[in-house]
Amino acid sequence: MQSTDEAARTLRVSAIRSPSAGPPPRAFPLKGRERPSQSAMLPLMKPFWETKSLAEMSEAEWESLCDGCGRCCLVVLEDDKGRYYETDVACRLFDAGERRCTDYRGRHKRVPDCVRLTAENAGALAWMPESCAYRRLARGQSLPDWHPLITGDPDSVRRAGAAVRADVESEAGVADEELEGRVTGRR
Ligand code: SF4
Repeated sequence: MQSTDEAARTLRVSAIRSPSAGPPPRAFPLKGRERPSQSAMLPLMKPFWETKSLAEMSEAEWESLCDGCGRCCLVVLEDDKGRYYETDVACRLFDAGERRCTDYRGRHKRVPDCVRLTAENAGALAWMPESCAYRRLARGQSLPDWHPLITGDPDSVRRAGAAVRADVESEAGVADEELEGRVTGRR
């Protein structure tokens, strides 16, 4: 890999989460005595993420796709061959304990390279994590089986090891020339 100065650049995208959106719809699996008898079962409805394109989703459906992993808020480096590397350094607005942006509404003003994720660009942003629901659906892939929409449990992303760790460091305390030494793996 070339030095940070020569080849690497940082990219960020803010998590698609809005405090005003309210709790997302969840698909809770039925268990035990709640399960209807075979004769009473209606034909199973497919969930919205299997029947709608990203562009067709309502705002609440779109918001609920975000699993809250926080990995799009990590600083990512790109080498001169277009390969991406994840670091353990996060955007200065990222709250690692809560795994959310501390200024969601003002993020683009305060962090000019924060990318707005849309139905149009979700499949093309190669530096997004492969597990990201937006990227996966845009590319015709299914949601991972640990996704909160499938498990009904918002913590399943952390238990699956897919979430950012709480001890990632803010970029505010890391110099650009140190970033290459903070790489944790390929994306
Ligand atoms: S699923 Fe993870 S990577 Fe995708 S937008 Fe949400 S926090 Fe970012």
